[in-house]
Amino acid sequence: MSTARILEEEQPSPVPYARVKRLADGSARKPAPARARTGVAERLARRLSADAACGCLLWCGSVNRKGYGQISATGGGAPLLAHRAAWEIHRGAIPDGMCVLHRCDRPACCNPDHLFLGTKADNNADMIAKGRDRQRPLLGESNPQAKLTREQVIEILASGESAAALARRFGVSASTAKDVRAGKTWRTP
Ligand SMILES: [Zn+2]
Repeated sequence: MSTARILEEEQPSPVPYARVKRLADGSARKPAPARARTGVAERLARRLSADAACGCLLWCGSVNRKGYGQISATGGGAPLLAHRAAWEIHRGAIPDGMCVLHRCDRPACCNPDHLFLGTKADNNADMIAKGRDRQRPLLGESNPQAKLTREQVIEILASGESAAALARRFGVSASTAKDVRAGKTWRTP
């Protein structure tokens, strides 16, 4: 292949005139940001960090509240979940309504060998089996073992009485009253 041909191939393809015109009068959608124009597979591969101990390939970009990696979709739009994108790249399309679950229980992991397909019910069963549903302790009255009501807790937090006196008044142990004060067992939502 001649140098001229290589150079020609490296040139970005020219924007068709009709598209430029549409953009100029503001009637067309703005082009996607440059980062979103690079393929998902390439961007995913660039931001994975291998954990040699377990073989996990952890996503180092932004994550959602549940810890799942988020990667911007090519051409803009809602971000994709990184582990689902990894599944589609390596294993193919995810059937409608199916979840991509983690054997390794690390939401940021995108190693296709650590992923498997399951239904929503499988996902819930898997979560319970791994105890992930219990990682966030139930706080306040939503915890069935709560010994105090929200109002009593507010009273304890505002009170200048000793833990022993509060314990007597509310019929709980002194350590419970202390824990409430320290914000260990009760947090007001
Ligand atoms: Zn993993």
